[in-house]
Formats: sequence, structure tokens, C-alpha cells
Amino acid sequence: MTDGMAMPLLSVENLRKTFRVKKGFPKSVTTTVRAVDGVSFDVRPGEAFGLVGESGCGKSTVGRSLLRLVEPDSGTVRFSGLDIGAATDRELRRLRRRIQIVFQDPYSSLNPRLTVGNTIAEPMLVHGLADRGSVTDKVVDLLREVGLPPEARLRYPHEFSGGQRQRIGIARALSVEPELIVADEPVSALDVSIQAQILILLQELKDRRGLSFVFISHDLAVVRYFCQRLAVMYLGRIVEEGPIPEIFETPLHPYTQLLKSTSPVPDPGAKVTFARMEGEIASAANPPKGCHFHPRCPAAMDVCRTTAPPLIQHGPGRKVACHLYPTEAASPEPASSASLSPPAPVPSATRSDHP
Ligand code: SF4
Repeated sequence: MTDGMAMPLLSVENLRKTFRVKKGFPKSVTTTVRAVDGVSFDVRPGEAFGLVGESGCGKSTVGRSLLRLVEPDSGTVRFSGLDIGAATDRELRRLRRRIQIVFQDPYSSLNPRLTVGNTIAEPMLVHGLADRGSVTDKVVDLLREVGLPPEARLRYPHEFSGGQRQRIGIARALSVEPELIVADEPVSALDVSIQAQILILLQELKDRRGLSFVFISHDLAVVRYFCQRLAVMYLGRIVEEGPIPEIFETPLHPYTQLLKSTSPVPDPGAKVTFARMEGEIASAANPPKGCHFHPRCPAAMDVCRTTAPPLIQHGPGRKVACHLYPTEAASPEPASSASLSPPAPVPSATRSDHP
């Protein structure tokens, strides 16, 4: 449990996942990619917890591991105290009702041969949450709740825009009355103005239904808008975690400082383009030794090239993995600037509305 506050709804401990991938031509070399490397975090009831990082940092693998859509190599995921890794098939089916996932591209997850009405009705019928007599009314209610007209139930997914399809995906997720939604880049495929509409919808649903979220995004501005707490991931590891206001006020990790510098405005329409940041993310198949961030870090020291910094408590509710901070656990106050080698200023902001 985190900080002696409310019992977590979701608790992830030391999650690890490697993939074996073939590379080169004719794909004869097999290499191991450590996609998730000891990730731990909690999500409290009613909380939106953000997982943010560049493409390839492992955040989507974490999201899929929560529902065992990807089987982790090791680690524990508990939902309402139940160990998901040890769940029987029957328990897993029940858990997958209580935890729903919303994908970046709803079109690929919607059956093109099913009408929208049947798409939303099917999970309710499977889980016994409606019968044939009541299901149409429930579908209409859900469509209205996500801002679509009742007639939408008679049409097919290809007849809708990207934003409308995301609303359909959200209605389908809501149809089984989940407690937690894993939203994996839910707005990143949409135009900026549509992104804002979907974020506002998700915020309303969260407040009205008391939903919890694991909100996965490469876009710090979107996470800042939607979430209460945030974990920053870099090459499979969490490098900083804490409440959104504190992280934006005083980011501790040099990588977080770099991210913040690219996203100065709390505007869900302000796009961050990671590829334009100073230095490219290293390959997860061959990560740098020690602190994975050291080739890009303006404050790197010798120890950073050999020894991975542990994620340590650093003040109330905050954690950081960086050798700039003392390793005594539960340090109540940030180390004084005199005792640190403060990170050099990160490169100036690069912000683009045109990814
Ligand atoms: Fe990593 Fe060292 Fe930079 Fe901290 S100072 S982020 S440990 S390279």
C-alpha cells in the first residue's frame, strides 16, 4: 500500500516481462527484449493513475499484463486483493468484467460485422447483466451516456468517425460496469479537438461512476489533464512517481525534467513529440548499463554508467530512481541543493501541434 492512504484497488509489484524477438534479415538472430523490468505501483479507488513514457518504454505491456492479455514472467498484480496471476479461468473471466481496456484504435477492436448495438449488447448478455428483453434499453442508455444517438445502434463501425468509434469502444467497456479502465493511448489517434472531447467524456464518466483508471500515454499534457498521480517510465523501469501537481512543480528525475520542458502548458491539446527531444531513446533490446537514461542525461556521473539506481521514496508520496538523490529510504525532505549535483538545465522546450 502507498503512503498509508486508501487501500489500493490495484496493486502491481515487481512486474517483469521479456519478449524474444527476431531481428535482421532474414530474421535469423533472436534477441531478448526486457520490456518491463521490475515495475511496481498502486492505484486507489476513484483515482486516475498515469503511465507515461516514450514509445517502447514498456507502458503498454504493463497495461496488457494487468488483464493477463500478456502473461508476465514474474511479479504480482492484485485487484481488490485478488492475485490475478493465480486466478482460475472462471475468476479471470469475472476479473475481466471488472477491469476493462480501451485501446488506441477502437476500430481494430470492434467487429466490423456486428452492429454497434450488438457490439455493446454482447458483453452484457455474456456476463448476465441484461437479458434479451432489457438489453436494447441498456444499449440506448449507454449510447446516450457517451454522446451518441440511439439510432447509432443500428449502424456498423465503419460508418463512424474515429472519435465516434472511440465513444463506441468506451460504451462497450462501460456495458459490463467495470471498476477499473485501462486506457491505452485512448486519444492519441484522434485530432486535437476530438482528443479534448473524449478526455472530457472520460472525466465525466470517471466522476459519475467513480471509476479508476490506468491511463497510458506518451503525451504528458494529456496525462497532466486527466490523472491525479503519475509514473514516468523509461526503458522498462519507473524512474519517477508522485502526485501530478508536485511532479510538475518540482520534477526530480532528469528525464521527467526533460519531459516537462517539452510540455509546459496543462492543455490536453498540447502535443508532445518525444522524437524531437534531445537524444533518442535507447533500444530496449540493448539498453545501456547502469541507469538506462545516462546517455541522454545532462547530469550523468561515473556511477550512473555502472549501477542502476533503485526507485526510492523521496518525500511524501514521491519516488525517484536517480543517483542524484540519497538512497536512505523514506527520506522526508528532498536533499538540499547543496548536497546534490543538480541536473543541468534540460534542453529547451520543443512543442508541436503537428506530430
Ligand atoms: Fe540516471 Fe545518473 Fe542521470 Fe540520475 S543523474 S538520471 S542516475 S544518469
